[in-house]
Amino acid sequence: MTARSIDGNALSAILRDELAARAAALSARGVTPCLAVILVGEDPASAVYVRNKVAGCEKAGLRSLKDVYPADADPALVMARIAELNADPAVHGILVQLPLPKQFDADAVLEAIAPEKDVDGFHAENVGALMQGNPRFIPCTPYGVMKMLEREKVVLKGAEAVIVGRSNIVGKPMSMLLLAAGCTVTICHSQTRDLAFHTRRADILVAAVGRPKMITGDMIKPGATVIDVGINRLPAEQGGKLCGDVDFESAKEVAGIITPVPGGVGPMTITMLLTNTLESAERALANATGAKA
Ligand code: NDP
Repeated sequence: MTARSIDGNALSAILRDELAARAAALSARGVTPCLAVILVGEDPASAVYVRNKVAGCEKAGLRSLKDVYPADADPALVMARIAELNADPAVHGILVQLPLPKQFDADAVLEAIAPEKDVDGFHAENVGALMQGNPRFIPCTPYGVMKMLEREKVVLKGAEAVIVGRSNIVGKPMSMLLLAAGCTVTICHSQTRDLAFHTRRADILVAAVGRPKMITGDMIKPGATVIDVGINRLPAEQGGKLCGDVDFESAKEVAGIITPVPGGVGPMTITMLLTNTLESAERALANATGAKA
């Protein structure tokens, strides 16, 4: 069997067209959705992510603001800028690109963002709302995965879902979303005793680890839906290409549906960031006009 591959670029293009139409409708009512991005330091990967986020805004008709600080920036300056953006009614989403340099308390920075503008969904208030099954902002990567599963009509109710990775930005929110959708969820991590025992039971397997090709075909249940969140760069002697946490070649012979890397979950993440920003602007307008959000 060869798995059906989900094209994250194609799905993103459809969703971004839908987004652009909604953004244009809002702009016509005098509100242009606006995302503010803060970048501290010169991490090249972070610079690329920020550039792509800003470009994504532009293409979809959203406004963006970008503040760049040097690696040795005083955290107080960044906190003051966040307070300013929190108070600006023309800004609907605020994002601080992670990781931050050592002198920053990343948790304190994320908590300083107004929860109603926290488009990454990392603020404790938004994490709690997600946990209670009443999310305001869903973290972008798991949100993108849920969109993919929805578009592919993957049956979630009663399915065995296994997530490898328990980070705050991917693994944990992913587990909450699949749980809310009716899956029976198992979360695996670095202390899990027999990883393959769990992965082989999965109807839906989500890999979010950061270890190249660690999930091989023999660890996958025949016909399973395999979502590869990992983004890893292979060493130069192995070609230096990007690859996921799943060994695509062996996995595609066993899985029913699979996401490639690159071109799978990756493009969806920014699309969902734009979605969160747009939805934030829609809520702000509804609140301002007294309509129900
Ligand atoms: P983290 O490093 O924060 O978390 C990795 C998780 O993997 C941890 O929970 C860790 O367990 C677990 N883990 C490590 N080794 C093993 C192992 N041998 N067996 C089982 N579990 C293990 O990573 P992120 O969640 O931030 O990211 C994961 C991957 O996803 C990365 O490749 C990242 O680049 C990618 N990513 C992709 C995005 C996209 O847009 N497609 C967005 C965000 C991330 P423990 O908790 O015990 O340490």
